[in-house]
Amino acid sequence: MVSCVYKISFEDNDNFYIGTTCNFIRRRKEHTSRGNNDLYTTKLYSFLNDNKIFKMDILFNCDGMTEDERYKLEKEQIELLKPTLNLMNNNKEYKLKKLKEYRSNFYKSQDAKNKQQEYRNNNKDEIKKRNKIYRDNNKDKRSEVSTCNCGSTYQSYQKSRHIKTKKHQNYLKLIP
Ligand SMILES: [Zn+2]
Repeated sequence: MVSCVYKISFEDNDNFYIGTTCNFIRRRKEHTSRGNNDLYTTKLYSFLNDNKIFKMDILFNCDGMTEDERYKLEKEQIELLKPTLNLMNNNKEYKLKKLKEYRSNFYKSQDAKNKQQEYRNNNKDEIKKRNKIYRDNNKDKRSEVSTCNCGSTYQSYQKSRHIKTKKHQNYLKLIP
């Protein structure tokens, strides 16, 4: 396991990315398989997809450093080297904030889903009744037949369609 700050670069262009990991081998696999497509590496990954061959080099070995020291070093390197594929706010606080936002949105949407399900469970009969009333109403509408002044008959729910027909339009022209 190598803890480090690393650089991803490409043979045929000058774009690069600075990152940090506590496990270089695993991170290299993640980058290769695009398996770690999280919020703050989106730009990098869309670039990796178009550039299959990349190099991943260790800039600094960080074995023995604390996580905070490692992130601080990453941030310094990003500010110094200005990589083209990092979000400019690629630091630990930013990552944590994004992660928090992402989680809270996820839980909110889960929460909404659960509430909907709970509502459906608690109101099964009510919902069934409502659906039946709706169907019955629409059945009536569907079977109801109107006779138009133009001489045609049409099903009531198709009134707007009937009005567009040639026959009805010709009839309208005849009205003084
Ligand atoms: Zn008509």
